[in-house]
Amino acid sequence: MNRFITTAVAAALATASVAGIAAPGPTVGWDDIANDDRTTGDVLSYGMGLKAQRYSTLATINRDNVASLHPAWSFSFGGEKQRGQEAQALVHNGVIYVTASYSRIFALDAKTGKQLWAYEQRLPDDIRPCCDVVNRGAAIYGNKIFFGTLDARVVALDKDTGKVVWNKKFGDHKVGYTMTGAPTLVKEKGGRVLLIHGSSGDEFGVVGWLFARDPETGEEVWARPLVEGHQGRRDGKPGTYTGNPKAPSWPDDKTSPTGKVQPWSQGGGAPWQSASFDPETNTIVIGAGNPAPWNGNLRTPVGGDPKKFDSLFTSGQAYVDATTGELKGFFQHTPNDTWDFSGNNEIVLFDYKDKNGKTIKAGAHADRNGFFFVTDTNKLASGSGYPNKPTSLIAAYPFVDGITWAKGFDLKTGRPIENEGQRPKQPAEGVDKGESVFVSPPFLGGKNWNPMSYNPETGLFYIAANHWGMDYWAEHLTYKPGSAYLGMGFRIKRLHDDHVGTLRALDPQTGKIVWEHKETFPLWAGTLTTAGGLVVTGTSNGYVKIFDAKDGKELWSFQTGSGVVSIPITWEQDGDQYIGIASGYGGAVPLWGGDMADLTKQVTQGGSFWVFKLPKRS
Ligand code: CA
Ligand code: CA
Repeated sequence: MNRFITTAVAAALATASVAGIAAPGPTVGWDDIANDDRTTGDVLSYGMGLKAQRYSTLATINRDNVASLHPAWSFSFGGEKQRGQEAQALVHNGVIYVTASYSRIFALDAKTGKQLWAYEQRLPDDIRPCCDVVNRGAAIYGNKIFFGTLDARVVALDKDTGKVVWNKKFGDHKVGYTMTGAPTLVKEKGGRVLLIHGSSGDEFGVVGWLFARDPETGEEVWARPLVEGHQGRRDGKPGTYTGNPKAPSWPDDKTSPTGKVQPWSQGGGAPWQSASFDPETNTIVIGAGNPAPWNGNLRTPVGGDPKKFDSLFTSGQAYVDATTGELKGFFQHTPNDTWDFSGNNEIVLFDYKDKNGKTIKAGAHADRNGFFFVTDTNKLASGSGYPNKPTSLIAAYPFVDGITWAKGFDLKTGRPIENEGQRPKQPAEGVDKGESVFVSPPFLGGKNWNPMSYNPETGLFYIAANHWGMDYWAEHLTYKPGSAYLGMGFRIKRLHDDHVGTLRALDPQTGKIVWEHKETFPLWAGTLTTAGGLVVTGTSNGYVKIFDAKDGKELWSFQTGSGVVSIPITWEQDGDQYIGIASGYGGAVPLWGGDMADLTKQVTQGGSFWVFKLPKRS
């Protein structure tokens, strides 16, 4: 099952086409980014604020008038390069900055959709994105726009002209390094503003890295590998294992089931989604990817207990010191993850009321493994949660139905209560595949990368989730640079006849699903929520839909012509509130999705950005 996209359409020259001479516009300062969640005239960060709540205080468009929402304009990304459009756009000074598939970025007039400039990274033909040629967004600071490319680079462009300021390669794309996530900015306690980004590549057995750069020059300030054993290494070669020798979380050279290739030396853990940031504790909060290979038998000594080899620090949430890059705390959602649940989904920072009614700083994370975690972020950021100290876990609620791999979590130990028989056994020598096991959620997750939102007024999280499962079996595997490194085979299956997607509103205090809305097709778009009492998302069969945040009633929909798998934003300009979202079907589901790939074959390709507003006031 190695249906990776490895062909890039013959790349056009990297160009910045400038329409006229742009006068330098106002620059973006740190305070603008720090206040992003409170300012309605711009969208300056992935997550619409450092806490990544994706909540807007705007209420011009609200549950009473949303029915009259209509398109203001639409912009086509053009060309033959379509595929998945998964980006969240930024808005600054009346300009929209939106990334598109195949490492492209566009600057558009926010009122008219007129293109101001465009940039396309010239991609080599041997890039190795696992899950489509997507890009999830850009960052903005000073006079620059930053975004990652599929050939493992970060590019800084002049925000007014689109001209390249710097372009840094951070990994070898031939062995699997790539970048799909949006970079973010932090201001560490020493006063430096840093550009933070991760790498992708867990499906190719590379070790994932988190980087901090000087936004002016692109120079690396620090780099953090998350897999134990790689701390301090930058040459891509295996180092000496530096995990806890008394309780190693990976097999050592004597017990390695993969012989010469030490599992930890190809161990994954890529932080490929975007970080949240807590300035008070100087902490970057980011999800770590799955351990590589997927097959946990190959990361456990032969005859050993998989529950004793957790494959740290993978498939969990990492708390990283913004000044030094040191790992301060870690909570692992899936110890010895053998299902590619990964831990990458966003961690939303919010105020949680504990049993005594005291407000504490918490993180919310809806994992691919089907559980919604509430964690004590102060404990994790202070080091008392390192690693896996149980006291950092406040709650773990199932947010989808039919979870097979675990009954739940033990809040005393912070560990899952696993169901037996869910870890597929290694086939005997000479036998191609092991016995197949049915697992739900499948590796595509109860929820995947598509970020949830949190509305402080309703107190609810809005999660675009899916009900599905997989037939899953183990295979033999040899590491080969640049080849898929899974050691598992799978087929995605539906769970219900009437729906796959389920948009759910979850109460983090109780775990209760307050409402749900079912969709025939898988949900793969992020959600946005507003003070107007709305939840906005997209569907794989082309709709932008808006729901009542209180009861889930569908209030409005619009067909964009291709599947919507991106992240909506909202802003105001000259008294009007706008909603913007990209359309264009792709992502992991049509590539890897088994029964779902068959279902979604009927969705046509596209690539466009849509903006909606209310009719002119009379
Ligand atoms: Ca803002
Ligand atoms: Ca993965």
